[in-house]
Amino acid sequence: MIYDLIIIGAGAAGLTAALYAHRYNLKTLIISKDLGGTALEAHSIENFPGYKGISGIELMKQWINHIKSLKIEIQQEDVINVEKQNDIFTITTKDDKKFQSKTVILALGMKRKHLNVEGEDKFLGKGVSYCAACDGPLFKDKTVVVIGGGDTALMDAQFLVNHAKKVYIIHRRDDFRAEPKREEQIKKNKKIEIIYNANVKEIKGKDFVNSIILDNKTELKVDGVFIDVGFIPSVNIIKKLKVKCDEHDYITVNNKQETNIPGLFAAGDITYNSLKQIITAAAEGAIATFSAFKFNIK
Ligand code: NAP
Repeated sequence: MIYDLIIIGAGAAGLTAALYAHRYNLKTLIISKDLGGTALEAHSIENFPGYKGISGIELMKQWINHIKSLKIEIQQEDVINVEKQNDIFTITTKDDKKFQSKTVILALGMKRKHLNVEGEDKFLGKGVSYCAACDGPLFKDKTVVVIGGGDTALMDAQFLVNHAKKVYIIHRRDDFRAEPKREEQIKKNKKIEIIYNANVKEIKGKDFVNSIILDNKTELKVDGVFIDVGFIPSVNIIKKLKVKCDEHDYITVNNKQETNIPGLFAAGDITYNSLKQIITAAAEGAIATFSAFKFNIK
């Protein structure tokens, strides 16, 4: 069978693309390892209209249920390759399943960046974490550190104070790159101590993390290390397609979410865009599907 549209990824962009595909009567398949995307990691979303504060899990559960209620086909698979031949895309999964489609929307989002310091790999799951929403509750009444100065780091610090007795934020500069409102809240919180202009050199411990060493030689006693130093776009699967990307590997799209490959669209965090939010990812997903619809009926 050849689908009209295959959407790869099921975060905010992919799920919205699927919703619109249903409205446009496209024969659609969603392929994604997980459902919900990185929004699942947000403990409290306060910038999505209609909700003063909702957890990422709660919000995305509603989106997933919505899509499931429309009976859109979903394959929970890990895609390893996308190729195009004679105007048809072939998508291959890790289990060597193959799916074909006239159009494809890439909505794979991003993967977390690592800090690449000594002890980071060794203590992964033993005090080192990349997901505060998942592991934060394990640090009840402990001391933890969040590394990074973006929205994710500050959001995670706000979540971690609900569990830990003290939260350090270590930022390599003296200026955050997060929403000013969040920054204000962070600075007022007595359980949070911000250390500016510092880099982590090493994560130390025995069976579990017990300290970090900074580049100014300070040793901080901590039980948990949350690494929030940004993301990299998940573009490995499209290497063979020669999709045009910017210098940081984000996919270049125009205002119709078209890539340089006809029939291939991209939406959400995987694209070059100036604001990476649930609402912008969703909007890009909707536009990508509309463009795929136009392409299909050409
Ligand atoms: P980000 O905005 O790229 O910030 C990453 C932070 O990590 C930066 O402060 C950066 O420092 C620091 N960093 C990077 N590499 C480092 C290294 N090797 N050592 C030490 N520090 C390092 O990433 P993010 O916070 O994960 O956010 C990603 C996107 O999602 C952003 O567009 C963000 O606005 C969005 N987001 C939005 C919300 C929301 O609720 N509005 C929540 C989460 C994420 P520098 O500042 O010095 O570069």
